This record gives sequence, structure tokens and C-alpha cells, in this order.
Amino acid sequence: MSTDHLATLAPALPLAARAEHLVGSVIDSSTSLLASMKHDIVRFAMGSPADEAVPLEEFRSIADEVLGYGSMTYGATEGEPELLDALVGYLAGTADPTDPERVTITAGGMQGLDLACKIFLDPGDLVVVESPTYTNGSATALSYGAQLLEAPLDENGLIVEALPELVAATGRTPKAVYTIPNFQNPSGATLSLERRELLLELAHQWNAVIIDDDPYGLLRFEGEDLPSFQSLSPGDPLVFSVRTFSKILAPGLRVGWVDAHPSLRQLVVNAKQAMDTCTNVPAQHLVAEFIRRGRLDSHLAGLRTEYRRRKQAMQESIRRHLGGLVTTTDPEGGFFLWLTLRGDAARISTRRLFETGLAEGVAFIPGPALSAEGRFDDALRLCFATSTPERTDEGIRRLRRAIDIELAK
Ligand code: PMP
Repeated sequence: MSTDHLATLAPALPLAARAEHLVGSVIDSSTSLLASMKHDIVRFAMGSPADEAVPLEEFRSIADEVLGYGSMTYGATEGEPELLDALVGYLAGTADPTDPERVTITAGGMQGLDLACKIFLDPGDLVVVESPTYTNGSATALSYGAQLLEAPLDENGLIVEALPELVAATGRTPKAVYTIPNFQNPSGATLSLERRELLLELAHQWNAVIIDDDPYGLLRFEGEDLPSFQSLSPGDPLVFSVRTFSKILAPGLRVGWVDAHPSLRQLVVNAKQAMDTCTNVPAQHLVAEFIRRGRLDSHLAGLRTEYRRRKQAMQESIRRHLGGLVTTTDPEGGFFLWLTLRGDAARISTRRLFETGLAEGVAFIPGPALSAEGRFDDALRLCFATSTPERTDEGIRRLRRAIDIELAK
């Protein structure tokens, strides 16, 4: 992430002070970078669902039915009533139930994060973020002038019991904690029940909001669901939940939702009205009708089976081609494996490996792009969801070639 582009601007431009904090996203930039490349590249970089996982035929038939003048005009800022109804009805049967007066439909999860930060953060506020984290989320906090405190994770998620000491060392009180509790991006870790409960306690001690970003919770393919913050502390105004259809239906739809205390609803709506009036209406009708037809459950069941198979296939390829060179996580759901280089390979910079990998035809996200302070130069994130097992094997083979080239330098 960089703000080098500022140096190219004419010095007299009357930029806002916050322009300095608009750091951009290495993750998102990889989409246009890869699109500009002409050779074959195995894509482990973006957290994109598999093409085969998008119910395109069904969307086509639904589009025929729902597209009309009614879906071509402005919609309610809260969201299309059909989608709000269908969504709340669907969630009633999950580990993350909600009420209609809590939900606002957003342009994907990113807009939910933007709304959370816009509503709660002032310049200079301290925000606890996981290390590593989804840096698009931490960049959103930065864009509102927040100061970030990176806090370590282990296989049970954010080490919540370490937070009091970490926070005390800053001499400040956090205003927000940004957490991805299920199959964390990028580590794959899931926050344990005890830590969820402790985090709720700390949030109340600090009067800090928990920005609960959970795009992957419905994609658990092993183990048992854990209760969401909202189920653990029903009606808690300090829990602001951000959700999206990007990983379970299709990211190009740009449809997500926030689930927040009803007293925040009007503020969320007012903030969204100053951004984009309403979320893309035809996309909302596509999603609403898909749910109304009762298709979401079987769709998710299919995704879970396939993504479990893909995770295992990637782990198998890693054992085959990268044995001894990396350690890897073993997530119970979601999209990502987090690899740490070991032994001889530990001296390789994954930033350099990224360039070599691209030349060899494989793309991933280097560790430093997933930490606000640029940590984890010995680690990288792989998305196992996008590619078939055969293609994944080819990609891991190419990654091995890239590592060998770096080792020979
Ligand atoms: N949060 C996390 C943890 C994510 O992984 C993503 C997508 N990569 C988002 C938010 C953003 O979701 P959307 O594409 O719906 O804006």
C-alpha cells in the first residue's frame, strides 16, 4: 500500500488532509494487474468464488422474471423489501439470525465497513486490528484518520486475552475492534467462543464498537458453527455486523448488508444516502428471488462440499510440491490458506517471490500486503476456492519453481 501517487500531483491542489490516508489496496489492484498480463496465470490472489460456483443459469432465468421498470428506478435506501424479507427469513435458520429493523442492504461488505468507520471513527481514534488482517478493512479505518493497533492471532483467532496489555501500552482506549471471526482473511483462523465472550466484555469496558466482518461464516465445511457476537449478546449496540453475498453468490453483484442495533438504522441510512442513495436494484432482486425460490440452502451445501475438496486438494499439492519449505494453516471453512516459509526458504521475501511467481504464472498475495505495518514478509495468502484441484496443482508446482529461483539467487 502506498501513497506515492500524491507526489505526482500538482503541489497547489487543495487536497483534504485525509487524501494522505487513502492508501489503496494491493489485493484489489491485483485484479487489474492480472488482467493486463497476457500469459497464463493460476489465480490464488483474489478471494473470488469459482466461476462454477456462480448459479449463472438460474440468475439468467430470474433476471427474465424480475427485470422491469420497477427494478430500473431508485430503490429504498434500506434495501428492497423483497430482499430484506427473504434475507431475514433465511438467516432465522442460521447461527446468525437477525430482525428486519436491524438490516440495511449495502453495496457489498466494503460499504458496510465504510459505514461502520464513518459512523464511529474520528481522526486519531485507536482501532484494534488483527495481524495479519484484511487490509481493505483496515484501510477503510485509515481513510477516516484512525490509528491502528495490530494485535496478534493464533489458530483460535485474535488473542483477545493479550489485548488489555497491548492497549494499556498505548495509554489510550480503543474506539473500535475490527475482527473477522470466522475463517479469518487471511489466516483462516476462527475466533473461539471464550474469546468472543471476552471481546464482548472488553468492548463494554472500553465502550468500543466491535466491527464484526463475517463474509465466510456460512461457508463452514468442517466442525461446528459458533454463535455470532449478536447471538451471544442480543441487542448489543456495540456490535456492528458486516455481511456480504460476495463469497456465497457472486462478488460482482455488489450486494451485502449490515446488521446493527435498530437505534443506528437511521444513521446508517443517512450515511448511505450521502454515498449512493440505494444499492443496485436489479442485483437486489436477483438475490431476493434466488432466496425466495429456496435455492440458497442447496447452493451453500454444494459450495461447502466443493470448497472442502478444494482446500484438501491444495493442501495435498502443497505437501507434494512444497514439503519442508512451508507451514500451512488448516481452516474449517472460507477461502484461504496462509503459508509461512520455513527452513532455507524463510529468508525469501514474499514481496520478491510475488514478482517471480507472476513471471512463472502464479499469483498470490504476499504477507506484507495483509498487515498495515507491512509485517509477514515470510508469509503469503493463497485462495483455494477459485481454481479446480488440477489447476491448483499446476499453480503450486509453479510456486515451487518461483521459490527455487529465489533460493538460487
Ligand atoms: N471483508 C472480508 C474479510 C473480505 O474477505 C472481503 C472480500 N474479500 C470483504 C470484506 C469485502 O466484501 P465485498 O466484496 O462484498 O465488498
